[in-house]
Amino acid sequence: MHEVRVPAANLIGREGDGFRIAMNRINVNRLLHCPTMIGLARQALRHTIAYANTRRQFGGPISRFQAIQHMIADMATALYACEQMVLATATRTDAGEDIRTEASMCKLFVSERCFEIADKAVQIHGNVGVTRNHPVEFVFRRLRMYRIVTGTSEIQRNTVAKGVLADDGRE
Ligand SMILES: Cc1cc2nc3c(=O)[nH]c(=O)nc-3n(C[C@H](O)[C@H](O)[C@H](O)COP(=O)(O)OP(=O)(O)OC[C@H]3O[C@@H](n4cnc5c(N)ncnc54)[C@H](O)[C@@H]3O)c2cc1C
Repeated sequence: MHEVRVPAANLIGREGDGFRIAMNRINVNRLLHCPTMIGLARQALRHTIAYANTRRQFGGPISRFQAIQHMIADMATALYACEQMVLATATRTDAGEDIRTEASMCKLFVSERCFEIADKAVQIHGNVGVTRNHPVEFVFRRLRMYRIVTGTSEIQRNTVAKGVLADDGRE
């Protein structure tokens, strides 16, 4: 917008700082979506463990199949990586560091890994997993959205690449 008059008392920050202030807010926003995604993925994992231990096929619980165990192991490992990445980045932003690149890394990694966790949860639940409004189906649908909202994965990759390329030679 051009030629918009704003009373000096209503100015947020200093004149000309608007874009920087907005971008700082977006960085924090990208990070703040991560705990929600992690919570949803954790819920999917909990449901999956309980289901795998109770659903019986071919004479016993499906959790005794190595194929199921491996999917659950991958889910738990990805979840742990997401938790630690977000914790480390939140600690850095609390210390006043610029986390522009890292916030995008978190949003990209966490949204994609958590969606994969939800996908495995649906797979392990079989037909039940695609039943409308079943907790696992709900989490799957919800986590799909997070690869789009607050900047798609493609846009996060753009931000990460820009930050990493600009850092060339500094570390
Ligand atoms: C549930 C929900 C809530 C939302 N809430 C808000 C909100 O509160 N505030 C708000 O401002 N917005 C909100 N949005 C909008 C959201 O941020 C946008 O949908 C998102 O940024 C993608 O923009 P778009 O939908 O216009 O897709 P487009 O920009 O049209 O993108 C379409 C496709 O092209 C790709 N693409 C676009 N540009 C590039 C590029 N330069 N390089 C590579 N690939 C590219 C995208 O990654 C995507 O795959 C919300 C969206 C959803 C789904």
